[in-house]
Amino acid sequence: MTNAHKQNSMALFRDKCRQHNLSITPQRTVIYQELVKSKNHPDSEDIYRTIKNIFPEISLDTVYRTLAKFAEIGLIHLVEGYGEAKRYDPDTNNHHHFRCSECNKIVDFHDDSFDNLKVPKAFQKSFKVVNVKIILEGTCDECIKKL
Ligand code: ZN
Ligand code: MN
Repeated sequence: MTNAHKQNSMALFRDKCRQHNLSITPQRTVIYQELVKSKNHPDSEDIYRTIKNIFPEISLDTVYRTLAKFAEIGLIHLVEGYGEAKRYDPDTNNHHHFRCSECNKIVDFHDDSFDNLKVPKAFQKSFKVVNVKIILEGTCDECIKKL
């Protein structure tokens, strides 16, 4: 992320916390900043490992609950979490993901046709769809070279 993006994201952080009556604590601020800095869609443990140097008394559980809360208020996005650790994304702009099943890397991509996917009509009748997530899975460019 560029510096401009980082400044915008801190403004977003303050706005979202205020809207949802979440007090802006030093710990929450650092957890969010670490997520914004990261480029690899980290899970709670990744964030915990980097910030326990700053806050030695913080627990993994606090980081886990804080990230879940951030996702709940729409400050960040939950990428996935089906049986594996939940991975988070500070970028809430419209984009899609590719996950490598060899190295677990999650890569961003954009695609207009995926942006405009329609929910099947039969499904719309009986279900309320609030979110569409695209995750392509396979082997990334680096892992293909190693095969
Ligand atoms: Zn890979
Ligand atoms: Mn992403």
